[in-house]
Amino acid sequence: MRSYTLISPAKINLYLEIISDRPDGYHELAMVLQSVGLTDQIDLRSLSTESIQVHCDHPLVPSDKTNLAYRAAELMAAEFPQAFAQYGGVAININKRIPVGAGLAGGSSNAAAVLMGIDLLWHLGLTQSELQELAAKIGSDVPFCIAGGTALATGRGEQLSPLPNLEHPWVVLGKYRNLAVSTPWAYQTYRQKYISTYVSDADSLEVRRQRVHSGAMVNAIFKKDQVKIGQLLHNDLEKVVLPEYPQVLRLREAFYEAGVLGAMMSGSGPTVFALSESEAKAQQVQQHVRKSIPEPNLDLWVAPFTTAGIRVVAH
Ligand code: ATP
Repeated sequence: MRSYTLISPAKINLYLEIISDRPDGYHELAMVLQSVGLTDQIDLRSLSTESIQVHCDHPLVPSDKTNLAYRAAELMAAEFPQAFAQYGGVAININKRIPVGAGLAGGSSNAAAVLMGIDLLWHLGLTQSELQELAAKIGSDVPFCIAGGTALATGRGEQLSPLPNLEHPWVVLGKYRNLAVSTPWAYQTYRQKYISTYVSDADSLEVRRQRVHSGAMVNAIFKKDQVKIGQLLHNDLEKVVLPEYPQVLRLREAFYEAGVLGAMMSGSGPTVFALSESEAKAQQVQQHVRKSIPEPNLDLWVAPFTTAGIRVVAH
């Protein structure tokens, strides 16, 4: 097989709790992650030479080695040099729809798609857990992006426990095109302000992890209780991002004024998402917010929850 087309979905955080610092410099997190149907398309094509090429027509997405899709291909070439020599390199085209630097893990999802696509191109037959192990070498969100659906993520975000699939609710996402929030800034500012809440010993860390595993959000997901899920949305990073970015706070308020199950910033922002009972309701919310914030720079999308991660759609 010489080419594959894969669908690479965005993720939102239904829950994000910062527990402590880690010796590796990352934060210890407890998150509930959800894939949504706002997607990029990744086309992979075998090359006759041992080279990696990335093309993306989005001005903010690099085409060099700093692209996470490139790093995924480079990792596969390093891990499987014989297959790289046998099947040749790969040309990667990214058709970007997921907003960039938005807290939606677009780059991580693209990297996951490249790992899965190269596994197919090179007939490696890797299992999902083998792919996830490779994915963790690229970034904390990449293992989740391989499997997708709904999952509890702990550690840096790479330790995953699958949760029951949620086919509802629908989601409305909003992002100001000209607004970006630096993820390192958000975490560093959180550390400065809230370090006194961090746990410092292994026992307390385990207690906090277990509290999320058996906590109210996870229970609501097991019961598929959309109303509760909406009420229990949580993101610690809102405490540092919302005061600094009043536009993001305003957008969150506009979603609540439109009558949603809940609204929350995703990851380190600045995307805000809102949950609605149905596609029709989500579209009404979108129109309501469009009217209450008549800003040409505000992009809004309606998308379903998705139960899958990366999908192959053509080869
Ligand atoms: P996260 O939620 O994981 O923090 P994000 O959604 O905030 O991610 P991305 O859209 O993944 O952020 O991109 C963040 C930065 O990474 C951008 O500034 C971009 O230049 C760079 N980048 C590298 N590869 C990609 C890619 N394939 N798609 C998008 N951005 C990429």
